[in-house]
Amino acid sequence: MSSAPMTGDQRFVKNLNRMALLRLLRDESGLSRADLAMRSGLTKSTVSLLIKELIDEGWLAEDDALVTGALGRRPTPLRLDGRQLVLIGAELDTDTIRVVATSIRGEVLEVNQAALRSSEPDAACHQLVQMVTSQSAKVKAGGAQLLGIGVGLPGAVDTVSGVLQLAPNIGWRGVEVGRRLRAELAAAGLGGLPVYYQNEADLAAVGEAEFGTRPSEDPLVYVSCGVGVGSGIILNDSLFTGATGSAGEIGHTTLFVDGRPCSCGRLGCAEAYVGLRAVAAAAGCLTGDGRIDRPALKTLLGKRAAKARDAFGAAGDMLGVLLQNVWTTFNPQVIVLGGEAVALGGDQFLDAAISRLGQFASQAGLPGPEVRVARHAELATAVGGAAFVLHSLLRPYSQAPTARAGIPPASTTPVPA
Ligand SMILES: [Zn+2]
Repeated sequence: MSSAPMTGDQRFVKNLNRMALLRLLRDESGLSRADLAMRSGLTKSTVSLLIKELIDEGWLAEDDALVTGALGRRPTPLRLDGRQLVLIGAELDTDTIRVVATSIRGEVLEVNQAALRSSEPDAACHQLVQMVTSQSAKVKAGGAQLLGIGVGLPGAVDTVSGVLQLAPNIGWRGVEVGRRLRAELAAAGLGGLPVYYQNEADLAAVGEAEFGTRPSEDPLVYVSCGVGVGSGIILNDSLFTGATGSAGEIGHTTLFVDGRPCSCGRLGCAEAYVGLRAVAAAAGCLTGDGRIDRPALKTLLGKRAAKARDAFGAAGDMLGVLLQNVWTTFNPQVIVLGGEAVALGGDQFLDAAISRLGQFASQAGLPGPEVRVARHAELATAVGGAAFVLHSLLRPYSQAPTARAGIPPASTTPVPA
């Protein structure tokens, strides 16, 4: 080996190779150094060197050597190590903050949820960072190292600046969430950590793909059904976010011309029929000031009251129409459903959606697409935030936008009027 210092390009290439080896092991645990050399095209000596580094840094662990009966050194199976390196994911939802810590293998290690105390941006960001800081302290007390934070937001996000462009359900437009979070994180001593911002459904999609089955399901469309309705799209192993970050906002596709008013200002959007506010309105569970009366809705569901069941049935039926449009547009390998309406509405909501989707499929003489429910239920976005940190680290070639806490953004994206 040369003892000359590495150039930036050499460091980049080395990192590409390290991450390629990690991706191979993530896709198939138990590969040996010889297997990795064969599959990556790297020399055995390069693989051995990089694997040693990755073991030393806590990315990989070795299992007992395999007994093969062959002469010579026995191959040692390698796997991702779930103990040393930790990812933090957070979700700022319209009325709840959720923070999780996960291993790089997707195991959820810690969960912290709290009601959003104030929807005023400074207070909301302060509360989120307080929760992240306490999670981070636990991680460090356990001797593990934190790799980064992924934050899910309830609207279209500029992923570089962290500006939440439009989130009608929390009443935010052009809010500099990134600037606030970076300042708070720096003040809390987490200034050097990479922070990623994304739309909540986009993160949930990444969580399903990154921590899901192997080989991964691709294309994968995650449909988030809560107060807002949106989707995250995984295409060719990447998150597809469109030209300005708002791809997948299927809640604001039109189901009825001149239909019901939507939170976005348009008429006839899917959200006005499928979203939880539409369900609550149909079930008679809106408060005087238009908020969703969740306790009342849950009480009705507990009593299996026809009013609530019919409301979820009708919303599920319209979700089936929306899924038909998603299926036809993306031809996904799988559609994953998650969000509060799925958790509350259960079979009443889902059966109606699947039945309507099946009807479209049979009309076209086609087998319907695979549809399943999110693995982490209401934690899907927070877990997805953790997954997004890993997703970005494992793909240095994609140069996913990140921001170091404490450094203000150079510019912000103009907010659409
Ligand atoms: Zn709309």
